[in-house]
Amino acid sequence: MKSLKKQNHELADTLIQLKVLNRATEQGVKLPAFTQKLQDINLFPLRPTQLEIFQVNVGKMCNQVCKHCHVDAGPDRKEIMTRETMQLCLDAIKNSTIGTVDLTGGAPEMNPDFRWFVEEISKLGRQIIVRCNLTIIMANKKYRDLPEFFKKHQVHVVSSLPYFSAARTNAQRGDGVFEDSVAALKLLNAVGYGQEGSNLVLDLVYNPSGAFLPAAQQGLENEFKKKLREGFGITFNNLFAITNIPVSRFLDYLLQSKNYDAYMEKLVNAFNPGAAANVMCRNTISVGWDGYLYDCDFNQMLNLKVAGTAPQHLREFNVASLSNRSIILNQHCYGCTAGAGSSCGGTTA
Ligand code: SF4
Ligand code: SF4
Repeated sequence: MKSLKKQNHELADTLIQLKVLNRATEQGVKLPAFTQKLQDINLFPLRPTQLEIFQVNVGKMCNQVCKHCHVDAGPDRKEIMTRETMQLCLDAIKNSTIGTVDLTGGAPEMNPDFRWFVEEISKLGRQIIVRCNLTIIMANKKYRDLPEFFKKHQVHVVSSLPYFSAARTNAQRGDGVFEDSVAALKLLNAVGYGQEGSNLVLDLVYNPSGAFLPAAQQGLENEFKKKLREGFGITFNNLFAITNIPVSRFLDYLLQSKNYDAYMEKLVNAFNPGAAANVMCRNTISVGWDGYLYDCDFNQMLNLKVAGTAPQHLREFNVASLSNRSIILNQHCYGCTAGAGSSCGGTTA
């Protein structure tokens, strides 16, 4: 399977994605603008709170080509953050009080400078999150020691596992992904991740396999814990239930399966003001592989940079002027505010 970009798919063009997100439904119904919803609850313009999380997308290269990937990642994507840009990240982090650096991709571990970057962030004494897709650990011998490497730097590992069964996981993420994920989870457990009494945190991320909202996070966590423990002897800390955001390959899936209108209506109808107040873009800044700044990873994939009043690139990074910006919003934002809300750390309401 190829990325949308490699296929020259029209949705690889972010302007076309935004056009789809803003058009009327097939019945001619114009969905309310997300900004209007925020205005109704006095949250517009949406302002950042304190900057706590510096999320870096170190590249779009990935060993997987998941059907719902909002990054349109895959082995054919060559966009990779250079060491020079990583150095700009380190300078920005050093000169700030940001507590957490969250590394994502693609498969962040495939960036040739990934380990150097983790070591340097670690020297700055900040908490590091790595969004590890699990299968990368099994993909090649050179990645097999990642659990030890993560342990050495007290990395908080957050890993996607769409379901506790092979059929549902492999349907979404590819053949053999469930089996490799189980093997990788066992290696992480073996060095202490997700074990009782250990401070090595291993969290899992669940996302629905189709055009529906996730069930309650706590119930899913209990079910995953039971099934993974009983079936495979695997333990983990928390499960984050996230909503699929209608961007990139998930948007393509919605359109292909003729679920797009119904899904958007579902998100709009489930708008939750409590979740809106806690959207992750308020305490996070997202950095692209080329050093440009975004309000979140979804805006990054839609090429919606931070507002023009704020620094656009790491070279001009400045926490004070970023704090004064208005967050850029569009119709995909309904994915963050539906039901119990959704963020990189799970539900928000
Ligand atoms: S969802 Fe994650 S693991 Fe899957 S292709 Fe995208 S970046 Fe890779
Ligand atoms: S999609 Fe991004 S900008 Fe929109 S509400 Fe969610 S986190 Fe904020």
